[in-house]
Amino acid sequence: MSRLSCSSSVSSNPSIIIGGGISGLSAAYYLAQRGLPSILIEPAPSLGGVVQTRTVAGCLLEGGPDSFLAAKPEALALIRELGLGDAVIGSNDHQRLTWIVKGGRMTPIPDGLMMMVPTRVLPTLTSPLLSWSTKMRMGLELLRSPRSGMPDRSVGEFVEDHYGREAVDYLAEPLLSGVYGGDPYQLSIQSVLPRYAEMEARYGSLTKGTLASLAQAPPKQPGATLFQTLQGGLGSLITALEKAIAPHCRLIRASAQSISRQDGVYSVRIPGATLNSPHLVLATPAWAAAGLLDSLDPGLAQCLRRIGYSSSATVGVIYDRTDVPQQFPAFGFLVPRRERRHLVACTFVDQKFNHRVPPGRLLLRCFLGGAGNEAILDASDDEIRSAVLADLQALLSLTAKPIAVEISRWRRSMAQYHVGHQALLGEIENRLCSHPQLRLAGNGYRGIGIPDCIRLGKEAANSFHG
Ligand SMILES: Cc1cc2nc3c(=O)[nH]c(=O)nc-3n(C[C@H](O)[C@H](O)[C@H](O)COP(=O)(O)OP(=O)(O)OC[C@H]3O[C@@H](n4cnc5c(N)ncnc54)[C@H](O)[C@@H]3O)c2cc1C
Repeated sequence: MSRLSCSSSVSSNPSIIIGGGISGLSAAYYLAQRGLPSILIEPAPSLGGVVQTRTVAGCLLEGGPDSFLAAKPEALALIRELGLGDAVIGSNDHQRLTWIVKGGRMTPIPDGLMMMVPTRVLPTLTSPLLSWSTKMRMGLELLRSPRSGMPDRSVGEFVEDHYGREAVDYLAEPLLSGVYGGDPYQLSIQSVLPRYAEMEARYGSLTKGTLASLAQAPPKQPGATLFQTLQGGLGSLITALEKAIAPHCRLIRASAQSISRQDGVYSVRIPGATLNSPHLVLATPAWAAAGLLDSLDPGLAQCLRRIGYSSSATVGVIYDRTDVPQQFPAFGFLVPRRERRHLVACTFVDQKFNHRVPPGRLLLRCFLGGAGNEAILDASDDEIRSAVLADLQALLSLTAKPIAVEISRWRRSMAQYHVGHQALLGEIENRLCSHPQLRLAGNGYRGIGIPDCIRLGKEAANSFHG
């Protein structure tokens, strides 16, 4: 059984894809690669879903994702197939440093800390980020015995068990907030950090497990970086995909309203029309897929609705460099929930990537919202702007007036893999057995990053056998 589908089928009619984010576009692209036509339904005026790039005051601004993890191969493979290989740039890892706000001050994450796992003694011991009792717990963690057969737990419980509460509050929570916008006491260790659950089972200690995997890792390739992106922004991936699929894919600017099925053919209702196909890819957020499936399969819809989503906003703040006397020699900073600010994180874009910020400009990419902080999305643009500037003043002593502030709101866009997510996926896969030609793609299932979404879109496309 393929993942998030049940069996394969024969295709010659256009497949219908609902949702024109990176997942749906990848499905359309990989169908097109096999010479198979598709119909893509997307209501937004521009494709890409949360991937949106624009240029403001000479700065390249990513409203949604800004890069992808280089370790996951699917994004780079697609980019190369599209002929954009030469436009790939890496993060400036030689100047990679992240601060965490503690007691209102910027405190560097100690060298050798991998997520919340210390791998070097001296930088951890001398770091002001953690108290002596946490440092002692980190040392004693090395003595833990392997523990297999553990049930799924929250990331918070798991990290607290290994390193104590402070490691949750000042490491796991802020680090995961930047990726998931989620609550560590709800997110599932098996789905969000499965590697650490495996290490616990095999080594007991996460430090021991991490050191062992570092020792076994192949030597780092020269020039290899943690993150990659495109010189023209991730929007150029969307533009290239749109161009590549155009000969094979009919784009319909509409919102799908409901799905029914008769004699093995799916009917998708859009305003004023019904589209039919035996093959259907749902590449929307899981909650939107649930709404579409309500009458066709209420049980499946109910399962999909159990996948949580958080809302967040990014705010690009652009300054004239001459107005800002400070230097910010770091990729950015994270604000633990304990420090109670509107800002969850902030990237100094010129430090992280080249080709984004022209000389004479400073671009800060700020994140707000996430689980427990979502009310900020209902605030007006002026209120969001004031909240961001007040935080930047308090945390960075930044008092200059920006020349532009660009706000992007992303409602219910970030999937939350809560405890029990794997079991829920199993239930969804079982239910999909009644729908042999229906596929689910998107960030709600088996990975939230761009490469994961591309992989699921590709798997969906390739599972329709011609
Ligand atoms: C602010 C932010 C920053 C991020 N940063 C990163 C990062 O740096 N790196 C990384 O790898 N990942 C990042 N992510 C995660 C990643 O970008 C997303 O998980 C991924 O882009 C989701 O793609 P998708 O196609 O599954 O969903 P979406 O992009 O949400 O697209 C779904 C599409 O479905 C459409 N749709 C919904 N309902 C219907 C309907 N009824 N009919 C038709 N269409 C419908 C929507 O309009 C939308 O266009 C970030 C996410 C956010 C929100």
